[in-house]
Amino acid sequence: MIKLTKRVSGIAPSMTLAMSAKSAEMKAAGENVINFGVGEPDFITPANIIDAAKDAMDKGYTKYVAAAGLPALKKAVCEKFAADNGLDYNPSQIVISNGGKHAILNAVAAVVEEGDEVIIPSPYWLTYPEVVRFFGGVPVYVQTSRANGFKLTPEQLEAAITPKTAMLIFNSPCNPTGTVYSEEEIKALAAVCEKHELCVLSDEMYEKLVYDGLKHYSIAQVSPKMKELTIIVNGVSKSYAMTGWRLGYLAAAEHVAKSIGSFQSHATSNVNTITQYAALAALTGDQQSVSDMAKAFAERRINMMRILDGYKSMGLDYVKPEGAFYVMLICDKFFGKSINGKKIQGSMDFAMELLANQKVAATPGICFGDDECIRLSYALSMPEIEEGLKRIKDFCLSLS
Ligand code: PLP
Repeated sequence: MIKLTKRVSGIAPSMTLAMSAKSAEMKAAGENVINFGVGEPDFITPANIIDAAKDAMDKGYTKYVAAAGLPALKKAVCEKFAADNGLDYNPSQIVISNGGKHAILNAVAAVVEEGDEVIIPSPYWLTYPEVVRFFGGVPVYVQTSRANGFKLTPEQLEAAITPKTAMLIFNSPCNPTGTVYSEEEIKALAAVCEKHELCVLSDEMYEKLVYDGLKHYSIAQVSPKMKELTIIVNGVSKSYAMTGWRLGYLAAAEHVAKSIGSFQSHATSNVNTITQYAALAALTGDQQSVSDMAKAFAERRINMMRILDGYKSMGLDYVKPEGAFYVMLICDKFFGKSINGKKIQGSMDFAMELLANQKVAATPGICFGDDECIRLSYALSMPEIEEGLKRIKDFCLSLS
């Protein structure tokens, strides 16, 4: 039998993908499943982007390109950072990767040594700790509070820093909580990072999905020093409904981007060339579809909150999300109750029994470091959301 390395044997499979797979399997078997587990927009990639990919193929753009990305795409990414974030990067500071996930892996590979600590505010996106561990790092979770909108405070950050801290992973808008930090809150955290020269991996994948008139602010915008310390990860998956195309990017200090580019040149080479032309069209083309999709999510969010407000009296609660397309539904009041003789002891049991009894898939909060919640995505049609929430209510009422 082949002996596995320590590096891979401890890695947990992505629980969100596992839940999606289970509900897809039930759907394929003809079951009427409502899937709140989805982590991707339910829209089809806008037509101008698809046309650009077809055009790239027709023109024969089917060969290798520079490992760190098409020069034209890197330039477009720089223009995006300038226009959206007021950040001035050179193409040599950009690396185009196979999705935001790959960009995160590259960033951690570049900065985290064996034994280094990486601060991760909790609840967190479940890939962060696995990637940190893969490179021998030690995830240090900092529990944020619901009362504070799941936001890391400067005091918490200061207290978590040790001589071994190599990185803070910061995610606003946040998956799974929908938390969006304000400029002031980010400046206060940046002051701590500057004091300790702490590298920040700033995951800004959901940048375009913020609501109630809020504006995304990047920690790299705070000061030239903060820009030097920050590795921004972003991509086209969520903003342009391009999850299957696999394209993300990072921006970093020149020496960091150069090393990551070299690493990637041996690991994967360039991202699919056709996808890169599609992403170029996404970033440089008409942005109407981006705002249309954001508007649809905004409406669903409002409706979802309105329905959930009606469930508060029965013991279900939530923390108001301000970005991305997720709500953390607090369901711990139902722990200890039973269904068909099975006792619900945590978010995993809650989600499993919900799926089995009401055919509603949701992601257990335990996957994100919060066992009192389940995560509901609202990347579903409004009728599905309404039906799914009704089934969740029925499920809770059926527990005894
Ligand atoms: N970062 C966050 C917070 C995410 O939720 C996701 C995807 O779910 C990613 C990064 C990765 O995005 P991609 O599909 O581009 O790899």
